[in-house]
Amino acid sequence: MSDTLNVSVIGAGTMGNGIAQVFADFGHNVILIDLSEESLDRGVAAIAKSLARFVKKEKKTQEEVDQILARIGTATDTSAGVAHADLVVEAVFESEQVKMDIFRTLDESAPPHAVLASNTSSISITKIANATKRPEQVIGMHFMNPVPLMKLVEIIKGERTSDETLEKTIALSENLGKVVGIAEDYPGFIANRILMPMITEAAFALMEGVGTRESIDTVMKFGCNFPMGPLTLADFVGLDICVNILDVLHDGLGDPKYRCCPLLRRMVEAGKLGVKSGEGFYSYGD
Ligand code: NAD
Repeated sequence: MSDTLNVSVIGAGTMGNGIAQVFADFGHNVILIDLSEESLDRGVAAIAKSLARFVKKEKKTQEEVDQILARIGTATDTSAGVAHADLVVEAVFESEQVKMDIFRTLDESAPPHAVLASNTSSISITKIANATKRPEQVIGMHFMNPVPLMKLVEIIKGERTSDETLEKTIALSENLGKVVGIAEDYPGFIANRILMPMITEAAFALMEGVGTRESIDTVMKFGCNFPMGPLTLADFVGLDICVNILDVLHDGLGDPKYRCCPLLRRMVEAGKLGVKSGEGFYSYGD
């Protein structure tokens, strides 16, 4: 791949706008794709707001920010938006059906050489690749939230992903200043397979009265030197997302150690989703 790439990012939500920002920041031409102009306007506004923070902290000049924003175009038509892509990164809802439909469209519309990546947290890359006739070019590129700040890209190799696609994706991620961790395509990959059992165990400890929410978070934060406790982290990730990923781990690996804590499930049923809903294990006001 040449140095400056045409990158299409599908989904202008939390992850998509962060991914678009990072690619544009590193000089690539980006097309951000979503279903409506409203979603795209929200996504571009979020990117502008994030970049403004870098100007405020004097890490970028206004001129640099203007150049980054000028490299980001938008589209509501996926076929047109990926027609010249060297790389597509899909970051739409965590729905197997929606992702399969998108990869079918990518197979029809993206150039033959394009790498087709998904930012999925938990859906099998091998399964997503089955929607295309070029599974060797399909790969997982799991960025972490917030994308401009978090260093890791977990790269997931599907059963039929080629070594060439893997090497291209590693080089590309490292050129974005990211650190790469490579995972095989098993449920939850590496990050969530190890993180989620800790979160569900913390919820069990709270449910069984082993400690208060503050005690559980304090012990793990200061005892294990984590930047935040597991209950706080669960609130940031979204409790609904935690439940979904635990179910994927439990179904896919068949081991009771991945069972979702009933308290976590009950909170989601009550609409307590964490920071995004204003209440989870802690309250966040408006
Ligand atoms: P989000 O809900 O914030 O955004 C999803 C966006 O996709 C929305 O703007 C929606 O309009 C758009 N969309 C839906 N269907 C579409 C379609 N057919 N074509 C174009 N756009 C479409 O979601 P998110 O939190 O950004 O998550 C996106 C993906 O990233 C998911 O697969 C998720 O598992 C993964 N992920 C999320 C996080 C996180 O912390 N949020 C972290 C790592 C990975």
